[in-house]
Amino acid sequence: MRFVDEFRDAEKAQALAAQITALCEPGRQYKLMEVCGGHTHTIYKHGIDDYLPESITLVHGPGCPVCVIPMGRVDDAISIAEQPDVILTTFGDMMRVPGGQGSFFDSKAKGADIRMVYSPLDALKVARRNPDKRVVFMAIGFETTAPSTAMTVLRAASEGIENFSIFCNHVTIIPAIKAILDSPDLRLDGFIGPGHVSTVIGCRPYDFISAQHAKPLVCAGFEPLDILQSVYMIMGQLAAGRAEVENQYSRVVPWEGNPKALGVISEVMELRPYFEWRGLGFISHSALKVRDSYAAFDAERIFEVPGVRVTDPKACQCGEVLKGVIKPWECKVFGTACTPETPIGTCMVSSEGACAAYYNFGRFSRDRVKEAIRT
Ligand code: SF4
Repeated sequence: MRFVDEFRDAEKAQALAAQITALCEPGRQYKLMEVCGGHTHTIYKHGIDDYLPESITLVHGPGCPVCVIPMGRVDDAISIAEQPDVILTTFGDMMRVPGGQGSFFDSKAKGADIRMVYSPLDALKVARRNPDKRVVFMAIGFETTAPSTAMTVLRAASEGIENFSIFCNHVTIIPAIKAILDSPDLRLDGFIGPGHVSTVIGCRPYDFISAQHAKPLVCAGFEPLDILQSVYMIMGQLAAGRAEVENQYSRVVPWEGNPKALGVISEVMELRPYFEWRGLGFISHSALKVRDSYAAFDAERIFEVPGVRVTDPKACQCGEVLKGVIKPWECKVFGTACTPETPIGTCMVSSEGACAAYYNFGRFSRDRVKEAIRT
């Protein structure tokens, strides 16, 4: 398949793996974080981990939008859904995310009108077709999806649709990376930068990682060779004693980002003073809310939202997984009490979640994978 096969060539992958190995300093261990859940999925779907030398460990970051939603926000959304004449719409992945009082599926089973949609524009269609209902879209995602939510609000405003609003949970990637870099739990050597988010924000916002933390970051695409080439570029920087921001995904990511997309976000939304992230706690200026000028489309002002804070279940180690401190198989309930069918934590729900990726592709531990390859 054109534009796909050329990025999945096994011989080129092996050649790149050999070049990566040649860049490793003998006796040194390297820890690289892939920030984006899409990368985690590619890595385990295609077995990229097995191409890399033992001295390079890939750890997974907080870039899966479903995974970082705290239980309290799920409960808040359910409380909106349970109010009279409300239709709550959201992406399919959100339906199984556990809140303190159950998931959206549980609430739907009890009678709440909660519907899956593929885009915010689909949610707007639901509003047009149901003028006697109040239709709320639970908006989640990083800067990648925030423009489409903002465009939908603008569309609703221009069409005078009064029964549509958004429950805004959009988060921003830079404060989360800062929180990880400031965390004493983890020593990282470099970052595989999030390709999708970077199509909107560009590469410049990552400058602080090289300037203040002396770590390389390479914005990466999502095919196997993209990821291997990005690891090669990071290792090249480390071998040369450099720490810079580089763009492997230049066929898609403009260095300066997408000014139109950024413009539409800033027209409709502004930064919240703080927001709770699952596993990372409260991070200041790390999420977006609806601006006063579009208050008529802000579910948090239209409905009574309890703003509950729910502590994660004791067994859940999503926080450590999201910070790259532990591998999914190190969580005590991985693959036993917590599976994609019965998720305890969010990382097991979305296909971009690290635990779901490990579980679905049989990566229960590096040793067990090697054993399986040998036998
Ligand atoms: S196995 Fe389940 S509870 Fe443990 S970290 Fe993963 S998603 Fe969270």
